[in-house]
Amino acid sequence: MKIQELLPKPDLLACKKLLCVQPHPDDMDISAGGTIARLAENGTEVFYLTITDDTAGFMEIDAGNTHRRKEQRKKEQQVAGKILGVKDYFWMDYPDAGDWSMYQARNEIIKYIRKIRPDFVMTIDPWLPYEAHQDHVKGGMAASEAFLLFNFPFIKTDETIDKNFEPYEIGGVAYSFTSNSNTVIDVENYREKKFSAIAAHKSQFTDELLEMVKIYDETRSRNLAEKCDFEMGEGFKVLNPTYMLHAFPEAIDYGV
Ligand SMILES: [Zn+2]
Repeated sequence: MKIQELLPKPDLLACKKLLCVQPHPDDMDISAGGTIARLAENGTEVFYLTITDDTAGFMEIDAGNTHRRKEQRKKEQQVAGKILGVKDYFWMDYPDAGDWSMYQARNEIIKYIRKIRPDFVMTIDPWLPYEAHQDHVKGGMAASEAFLLFNFPFIKTDETIDKNFEPYEIGGVAYSFTSNSNTVIDVENYREKKFSAIAAHKSQFTDELLEMVKIYDETRSRNLAEKCDFEMGEGFKVLNPTYMLHAFPEAIDYGV
């Protein structure tokens, strides 16, 4: 018997309430924008929780002080999110590329899970080989541990939220920016929305860089869809957070 027969792979497209946890305001738009637009169009409520303030990634040296850059990124993110159909946004405002703690982030993410009660979560894959950006490594890991531990009553966050929280099960976790996808979503009809959303992050891209991202993404989308009956896809590693994020050796090739 295969493990997958015991534990079927969760269905990302069936989710009703999706919490996307990202280190930077454009991570989900870049890695999963087509899927998010598709889900939102089909009635999924999509929430974005952003860990850092993204104030380090500006291309212009005269971009203004930290406060101004922070506010600008939030505005850009909301323009992008409106295009994709994001319902609401939450920000943790940790320093971009700064010295923040994975444990502190994990607890704050637990607070938002308890508050929002998503049935599916999405974040970036912290086990991506050769990923050097610590915001991505720590952020993906903080989100993963949060999905695993949010029902544990001795992990405290906000007093009121904790007091009113009833434990429940999250159906699945989807990792984007992964080299080990087991799910490819058809996003052919959502490419335009995705790239309008990415372009809304104006402070992050020169025209040249944006064009490069587009070419890379287009090539990658076609490669991912090679074995599918559609042309362009976004890849995710989809797991069951309760059973597969802890002491589960089969997770590496699960559901492929
Ligand atoms: Zn990022």
